[in-house]
Amino acid sequence: MEVRRWRGAARFGAYLGATMLPVVWLGLVLTQTVTNQVDVAALHQGESQARSLATGAISPFLDDGQLSDGLTKTQRDSLARSTSHLISQGDVLQLRIRDLDGQIVFDASDPYGPMVASEPDEAEEVEEAINEGMVSQLTTVGADEIDGARTGGAQAMEAYVALHPIDRPGVIVGVLEVYIPFAPIAAQRDTSLRQLRLSIIFGLGALWMVLVYIVASVARRTRLQSRRAERLALQDSLTGLPTRAIYRDRVAAALAAASRMGNDVAVAVVDLDRFKDVNESLGHRNGDEFLRIVAQRLKATLRPGDTVARLGGDEFGLVLPGTVAESVEAVLGRVLTALSAEAELGGVAISAEASIGYAMWPSDAEEPEDLLRRAGLALDTAKLARGVIVRYHASGGEFDPQRLSLISELRRAIGGGELVLHYQPKIDVPTGRVNAFEALVRWNHPIRGLVPPGEFIPIAESTGLIGPLTHWVVDSALAQLAAWSDENPELSMAVNISARNLRDDLPGWVLNRLAAHHIDASRLVLEITETSIAADPIRASVLLEELSAAGVKVSLDDFGQGYTSLGSLGRLPVNELKIDRGFVTDMQDSHQDRAIVASVIELGHQLGMTVVAEGVETDDVRAVLRTMGCDTMQGFLFSPAVPASQAIGLMDGIHTTV
Ligand code: C2E
Ligand code: MG
Ligand code: MG
Repeated sequence: MEVRRWRGAARFGAYLGATMLPVVWLGLVLTQTVTNQVDVAALHQGESQARSLATGAISPFLDDGQLSDGLTKTQRDSLARSTSHLISQGDVLQLRIRDLDGQIVFDASDPYGPMVASEPDEAEEVEEAINEGMVSQLTTVGADEIDGARTGGAQAMEAYVALHPIDRPGVIVGVLEVYIPFAPIAAQRDTSLRQLRLSIIFGLGALWMVLVYIVASVARRTRLQSRRAERLALQDSLTGLPTRAIYRDRVAAALAAASRMGNDVAVAVVDLDRFKDVNESLGHRNGDEFLRIVAQRLKATLRPGDTVARLGGDEFGLVLPGTVAESVEAVLGRVLTALSAEAELGGVAISAEASIGYAMWPSDAEEPEDLLRRAGLALDTAKLARGVIVRYHASGGEFDPQRLSLISELRRAIGGGELVLHYQPKIDVPTGRVNAFEALVRWNHPIRGLVPPGEFIPIAESTGLIGPLTHWVVDSALAQLAAWSDENPELSMAVNISARNLRDDLPGWVLNRLAAHHIDASRLVLEITETSIAADPIRASVLLEELSAAGVKVSLDDFGQGYTSLGSLGRLPVNELKIDRGFVTDMQDSHQDRAIVASVIELGHQLGMTVVAEGVETDDVRAVLRTMGCDTMQGFLFSPAVPASQAIGLMDGIHTTV
C-alpha cells in the first residue's frame, strides 16, 4: 500500500515536470516576442514624437528657399522660440536642422551659432531620411564628440526627419535631427512589459494547471482501465469467481499456510454432469445463467475461508483448508445436495448434477501441481459413475481400465436391477431358531456372473456410489422382511452400513423406509463396522443416538479388528457386538483367539449387549461358543447367505442343529 502510494506520488511529480517544460518554453518565447514588439512600439512612439515636432515646431517657419543659404533672422528667432522650451524642459535632448547636404543650419542649444559641416556618417543618415522620410535608432547621446560634450551619454532615440515647408508638403528642404530622451519611453515600455509578463505568467500558469489536470485524469482513467483489464484476467467475467490462474495461487497459498499451522487441505474439482444438454436445449444465455447459479450455490455452501474458482467451462475448483478427509466428504456431500436443488431456467425447472474429485494434502500429494492433477484424476473416475464424490487413491489403480469400466457399470447396476440380496440367518442360541437374516449384497453381472461384495463395495465406497447402493439394499431388505412378516412377525433384518453412509441424512431416510414398508424400527439392525465408527466417532454417535432413539438396533460388526476404547464403547448406543469372523473361525486352534472371544462375550454382557459370533463353521466352535454364553451365531455351519427363496425355508430347518 505504502509502495503504491509512493509510486503514485512519483508519477504525479513526473506529470508536473513533463507538462511544465513546454509551458516554460512557451513562456520564454512569448516573453521574448512581446519584449521585441514592445521595443518596436516604443521606437514608433519616439518616431511619431519626432514627426509631430517637425510639423508643429519647425515646418511653420520654413519656406521653400534652400537651407544651405542660411536662415533669416526672423526664422531663427521663431525657431529659437518654438524649440527653446523643449530643450529647457528636457523633452528633447538635442535638436538640429540640417540642409540637404547635412550641414547644421540651426541648433536649438545654440540658435544663433554658425553653420557646421556634417560628419560623413551623419550625411549618410540625412540622405536616408530624405529618401525614406524618417530614420530612427536607439543610441547614446555623445557617441560622437560634439554630442558627448552636451548630453553626457544618456540613452536616447535619435531620429532624422525630412522637413517640408508647411504649405509645400511635396518639397523637402532639409532634415530635422532630434534626440528624444528614451528614459520615459523605456519606463512606459517597462510598465507594459511587466503587465504583459504578469499576464503571460498567470495565463500560462492557468494553462499548465489545466494541462496537469487533463494529463492526470487521462492517466488515472488509463490506470483504472488497465486495472480493470488485470482484474478481468484474475476474475471470471461470467461468474465473478477467481480464474484458473488464481486458483493455482490459492492452492499454493493454502498449502503454505497449512504447513505452518499443521492442517490438512482438500483440493476438489467439481464438474457438472449434464451442462452440455442444458446449453443445447435451453440456449447459451440460460446456460450462462445456470453457471452463475452454480457458482452462487458453491459459494453459499462453503465457508468464507474456502475458495471457489471457475476453472473453465462447467468445471469449478474448490480449496478447503483446515479440514480432514471425513469432514471434506460431508462438505462435498452438501455441495452436491445444494447443486441438486431445482432452479428455474427459461421456464424449465432443472437441477445441477455434478461429479466431484478431490485429493488431500499432504496425504495424497505434497506439491500443489500434483495435488491438482490428482484431484483431476479423481474427477475422471467420479465422472464415470456420475453424481458421486471420489477421492484420489494412489493404490486405487486410477488408470486400471478394468476398475474404470467397473465404476460405470456399477452405477448402471444399482439402478438397473443387477444387484441381488442373499440372506444369511442369525441363530438365537437358547431357542435354536432363526431370529434374523443378514442381507448381503451381490452383483449379478451380465458377463462375470455373481460378483461378491468384496470386489465392488470398496469401489462403491471410493466413488460415492455407496450412497445409492445402501439405499437400494435397505429398501430391498425391508421389502423382503415385509413380505415375510405375516408368517414371521418377530423376524429381524440386518443390513450393513458403510462409514460413508454415516451422513446427516442417514436417520431420516432409514426411518422413512421403515415407515414405507410398515415395519417396526426394532426389527431393523444396522451393522456398522468398528473401524467406520472410529473414523468420526462423534458424528457416528450422534447419528446412532438418533436412530437408536427411534428404536432401530445397532450392531458393531467385525468387532475386535478396530481399537474402540472401552470407554467409548460404553457410551455408544450399541445393542449388539458381532465378534470378528477371524477370531471365531480360528478359535479351535488358537488359545489366544479363544481367550479373546470369551472376554468379548463377557464384556458385551457386562455392557448389556447381545453378542453374536460370525464365521461359525464347525460343531466344535459352536459347542465352545455355547458354553461361553454366546447369544447368537452365524456361519456356514448353519447356512451361507442364500437367495430369498431358500432363506425362508431355513426358518424351520436349523434350530435342531444348534
Ligand atoms: P460382513 O458384514 O462381516 O458379512 C459376513 C461375511 O462373511 C459375508 O461375506 C458372509 O458370506 C461371510 N460368512 C458368513 N459365514 C461365514 C463362515 O462361516 N465362514 C466364512 N469364511 N465366511 C462366512 P460376504 O457376503 O462376501 O460379505 C463380505 C462383506 O461385504 C460383509 O462382511 C460386509 O462388510 C460387506 N457387505 C456385504 N453386503 C453389504 C451391503 O449390502 N452393504 C455394505 N455396506 N457392505 C456389505
Ligand atoms: Mg455384517
Ligand atoms: Mg462381519
